[in-house]
Amino acid sequence: MRPLVAHIDLDALRHNYQLACRCAPQSRSVAVIKADAYGHGAVACAHALESLVPAFAVACIEEAIALRQGGINKPIVLLEGIFSADELPLVDRYGLWTAVHSAWQVEALTAFSPSQPIPVWLKVDSGMHRLGFDVHEAQTIWQRLVDAPQVTALHLMSHFATADASDGGYFNQQIQRVQALAKALDAPLCLANSPATLAWPAAHGDWNRPGIMLYGSDPLEVANDTTRQLRPVMSLRSEIIALRELDEGEPVGYAGRWRAKRRSRIAVVAAGYGDGYDRHAMDGTPVLVNGQRCAIAGKVSMDMLTIDVTDLKAADIGSEVVLWGAASTGEVLPVDEVAGYCDTISYTLLTGVLPRVPRRYQ
Ligand code: PLP
Repeated sequence: MRPLVAHIDLDALRHNYQLACRCAPQSRSVAVIKADAYGHGAVACAHALESLVPAFAVACIEEAIALRQGGINKPIVLLEGIFSADELPLVDRYGLWTAVHSAWQVEALTAFSPSQPIPVWLKVDSGMHRLGFDVHEAQTIWQRLVDAPQVTALHLMSHFATADASDGGYFNQQIQRVQALAKALDAPLCLANSPATLAWPAAHGDWNRPGIMLYGSDPLEVANDTTRQLRPVMSLRSEIIALRELDEGEPVGYAGRWRAKRRSRIAVVAAGYGDGYDRHAMDGTPVLVNGQRCAIAGKVSMDMLTIDVTDLKAADIGSEVVLWGAASTGEVLPVDEVAGYCDTISYTLLTGVLPRVPRRYQ
């Protein structure tokens, strides 16, 4: 079999979730497992977390139904709410909670007759300017939902644009807006994503919504003692499938982007952009070969990538290559570091691992 496998460490997932809870002991933390648990496999991750979490969060009803059909019974909240009124019977049937961010959702909800009231999180735009009611509209909508027999357990939610930044300027503006509103309405709050859970206790609400930190990625601009305790959940491991010697000046791969500056040994690894490995990975992007650092040399192809192993005499056909995560010998290559070389963020690398890469749970 092709040697590329995404190893998923469910103990690490539980450890990271418990770290989120320790950061915010007064809050309940909903585990955000949208986008197939950021590429890790939502049903397997939900089963691993189910005894620890009070609720899960997903982006849409399809994701929630997949969890229910996978045997998950805990509450599931739809972070973006419904996409059409037709979904409301499914929200009712599967016992889901929902966010509402737009007037048409409120209209649909208050015209619907559920078998039991639906827990609702009213989304306020406190400065992200993506989804949600502005602070003034939210006051009216709040009262309407309080009075609606279709609704129970009403909360205010909001999402931060800059919680990962060390400079709290804009973050503080957002939090002041939403907290003033919550005070005026006497509303329970759900605010903190991973960076706010880790770095901004002022944002810890009745509920928090950590996502990326559960998977072991550090969302903060500057790491701290807490983020250093995160453990990688996905380890993307492959093997060397071919080796060749090149003379100084010889190119490697498409467009000959990389050229040997000395006599070099190049290893071919079974992983490419057809697996979701980012084609933008620059020359120099680190990988671990038998636990030791080497670097990408040449453009990533669809099914392969090439690395320079000139200084690693032990590299051979079948040697383990870690593209991110933990080596079987224990060394770690953080996905955040790889993301930096691809001019992207860990979220896109993790969610980008394609279905042809088998997930192996441990
Ligand atoms: N809440 C909402 C509304 C989100 O959209 C997201 C992620 O995009 C999260 C929480 C989790 O954010 P993070 O993965 O940064 O913790």
